[in-house]
Formats: sequence, C-alpha cells, structure tokens
Amino acid sequence: MKTIESPAEMQRFAETARLKGERIALVPTMGYLHEGHLSLMHEGRRRATLLVSSLFVNPTQFGPQEDLQTYPRDMERDCRQMESVPVDVLFAPDAAAMYPAGAQTWVEVTELTQGLCGQFRPGHFRGVTTVVAKLINIVKPHIALFGAKDYQQLCAVQQMVRDLNFDVEIVAMPTVRESDGLAMSSRNSYLAPAERAVALSLSRALEAARTALARGERDPHALAQTARAELDRESGLAVEYVEVRDATTLAHIRSVDAPAVLAIAARAGRTRLIDNTVLEPGIETRSEK
Ligand code: AMP
Repeated sequence: MKTIESPAEMQRFAETARLKGERIALVPTMGYLHEGHLSLMHEGRRRATLLVSSLFVNPTQFGPQEDLQTYPRDMERDCRQMESVPVDVLFAPDAAAMYPAGAQTWVEVTELTQGLCGQFRPGHFRGVTTVVAKLINIVKPHIALFGAKDYQQLCAVQQMVRDLNFDVEIVAMPTVRESDGLAMSSRNSYLAPAERAVALSLSRALEAARTALARGERDPHALAQTARAELDRESGLAVEYVEVRDATTLAHIRSVDAPAVLAIAARAGRTRLIDNTVLEPGIETRSEK
C-alpha cells in the first residue's frame, strides 16, 4: 500500500491514474477501522481498479465540546487492516495540509442538515460536506462509498453531489452490526461493559418499530413512540431524538407510504450513539400477504 500525505501529490497521482484508464474508488474514514469500514473498502475493491482510502480525523466536523482530542487512533492497526483488503493508496493528510491558514470556504447543505443530528451538533455537517468535497477534488474518484450507519451524512453528501454537479457516483452501503445487533462504530471503544449493554437498546428499538410497521402501523409518531418505549426501558440512556422522516429528503412525513428512515441518537454515559433503519412499507406489506 502506498501512503500519500500531501494533497497536491495525491492529485497528481490520481490524475496520472485516470489518464491510464484506472477507475478510482474512494472510501473516506476517520480511522480506528472496524468491519463497517472494511465492508466499504471491499465493495470499492470490487467496483474499481484503484482503491484509495483516506484517514483523516477532520477537526471541522467536531464541536468545541466534542471528542476531537480523544477520538480513538491506531494508525498501525488501520494500515494492517487496509493492506488486508487490499487498499492501493492510503491518503493520510494532516490538518494543516487540509486547512491551510487563511482557508475560508465552506460547503453547506442547508435544509437536510437542520434537524436530527444537525440540531444537536451545530456545524457538524458543514464540516463533513466541506471535507468530503475536498477529498473528492483531491482523490478524483469515479465512485465514493459511504455507510448508511451515518444516514444524515449520507443524505447530505448525496445532496451536495447533486446540487454541485460533482462527477462522482455515491455508493451507499448497509450498516454492519455486531452479532448482538450493536451498530459498529469507532466510538464503541469508549463504552464500558454496562454502557455497551445499554447501547443494545438502540437496535432493539429499531426492531420494535419494524415489527409495528409489519403489523400495519403507518403513523410516523406511533412508530417513533414504539422505538422510544424500548429506549426508555434503559435508565442509563439519554435519548437525543427518535424520529421518522422521508428516507431521501429527511422531510417530516404524515404517513409511512414511501420509504422512511427511523433515526435515533442517544448517549450512554459520555458516548454518543446513533443508529437507524429504513422502513419500507411496500416490502413489509408484500411480505405480510
Ligand atoms: P468514520 O470513520 O466513522 O467517519 O466512518 C467512515 C465511513 O464508514 C462512513 O461512510 C461511515 O458511514 C462508514 N461506517 C461507519 N460505521 C459503519 C458501519 N457500522 N457499517 C457500515 N458503514 C459504516
């Protein structure tokens, strides 16, 4: 695996690769890799001839009270995991290279980022879309892969690509879970054993709502309430939101007649957890018959 730290060198490398006819896949990450990240890399490997993964703990997507300083890092282990895929190029810039003094341009998706996590993490999605726009300009990928685990992030990136005519295909990949249902996340490493047990209520809550949908419930508030009731059984969990929104626009809906997303954010101790599921009324109705 080749490691590139300089954005200018990465651009030159990508341009040369494109001229040779390579098809480039990009998997952006903040490192501390797990099977969720690796599933994106394996799919990128399958769909492209040159697989680039970036490792950059992006300071602009962290709020002042958030965990930028303590975000888990293990570069050596990450490199071994990437080599096992194998990833061809690791792009690992430092913050000064990505945000030189005087940088003042932001990319912001204005509406879709208002509610859900946007409400609890002001500025977060502006940091995400800005760094993803920069990574796309630097790595020049034909496709870029993102996990549905970060559902609002995925929607914001898709919206940005549409709105700004980025010449890249965004590939969405399903959430990879531990065998007991916990969505994999680098931040799970923060969880003490008791907090991890509490965290399992998120996937249980999603399952409860899916069951209610299968029984015919179409009221978004009732579905959210069903999930909420499951979360409320855990005293160690501080729920930020439980909401059902349109699966593409993230707009509020009156009824689940088209694909909707049930999204949850909650804290177990100091660890912020998110999870979601797409509720597909058509498919559920068909499977009932
Ligand atoms: P991160 O390193 O947390 O910024 O994540 C990098 C990419 O991996 C993002 O596109 C995430 O959505 C994706 N990702 C994180 N966790 C998972 C998971 N459990 N399953 C699938 N994709 C994931």
